Amino acid sequence: MSQPTTRALPTIGLEWHLIGRPRGWPTPADFALREAALARPGPGQALVHNLYFSVDPYMRRRMDHVESYVPPFRLDHPMDGGAIGVVLASEADGLTVGDHVRHGLGWREYAVVDAQTVTVLDPTAAPLSAHLGVLGNTGLTAYAGLLRLAGVKPGEVVFVSGAAGAVGSTAGQIAKLMGAARVIGSAGSDEKTKLLVGEFGFDAAINYRTGPIVEQLRHAAPDGIDVYFDNVGGDHLEAAIDSLNSHGRVVLCGMSAQYNDTAAATAPRNLLLAINKRLRLEGMIVSDHLDLREQFVREAVSWIREDKLRYRETVVAGMEHGVDAFLGMLRGENTGKMVVRLDA
Ligand code: NAP
Repeated sequence: MSQPTTRALPTIGLEWHLIGRPRGWPTPADFALREAALARPGPGQALVHNLYFSVDPYMRRRMDHVESYVPPFRLDHPMDGGAIGVVLASEADGLTVGDHVRHGLGWREYAVVDAQTVTVLDPTAAPLSAHLGVLGNTGLTAYAGLLRLAGVKPGEVVFVSGAAGAVGSTAGQIAKLMGAARVIGSAGSDEKTKLLVGEFGFDAAINYRTGPIVEQLRHAAPDGIDVYFDNVGGDHLEAAIDSLNSHGRVVLCGMSAQYNDTAAATAPRNLLLAINKRLRLEGMIVSDHLDLREQFVREAVSWIREDKLRYRETVVAGMEHGVDAFLGMLRGENTGKMVVRLDA
């Protein structure tokens, strides 16, 4: 079972620690890049050299000391999250030196992983980083939200916020693949709105920084919307409630506009309309839908091959730029999935 290796195994690796709980927007002073001694893998474990790790909006919530569906990061401990790496040494059945794996111990150069927590990837199916984005949890989030929660029907009008991001860019395209007649997206720059229409096939796009969303959405959807895929919350959710038709559905996926707020949200102010219109607003957590992963990946791989599903990634190179990538993603510097590539 123990796998011989042709080179000496590393004994020290770099890892990012949270060293202070941010109030409002995080700053680089809340984090430290530290060296740590590496343990040898025990029975059922493998030592992985990380090649990519993911930076995601939900990680901001984990920096606060609050109970959520994932525990808060511990101060002065390595942060974690999605990562892809290559096995350097294995004491586990089913994991071989050289295997490419996805696992949950990101934000560090090397990880000792339990074999039952990793997924072995086929490196020829797609670029490895795609397994953190379009073929990973953000893609599955879009798919499960539209399929299970919204139940998009042919001919419907769908509005997606955060539409140039990882979840949003996939959600808009999958809504079209499910037969939506019109898909409208919102994003934070003209460059992104052009991409939504030109690259991702949205029918209309709104730059939420150039005017009130409520008016822009009424203009883009004169006959109303049937489904709102919410990545942003706040004013966007208020505008969607305003434009939703009777029996409309809202997938409450994320609230990026609020993660750094220090005061309570002031919108939506029009929830009463949800009663009049018989709306359904439903929160989702992707981990409740892991049973869909195999079906989703199979469909997504063929959509990508047929050029029916496109994706972008913003890749930041260098372990030392991990926090810059995370803060940049919160500011909207990413198009599609933001990932950190560790230099070999
Ligand atoms: P992402 O959209 O790729 O990146 C975050 C984006 O948020 C930025 O690119 C930025 O785009 C936008 N943003 C930041 N501040 C904003 C503001 N004040 N108003 C509007 N947009 C703002 O991230 P993602 O990974 O795809 O996640 C999207 C959402 O889905 C997040 O809310 C996340 O928490 C949620 N999510 C939920 C689940 C789940 O299981 N429920 C799983 C994955 C993700 P602009 O340039 O357009 O502002």
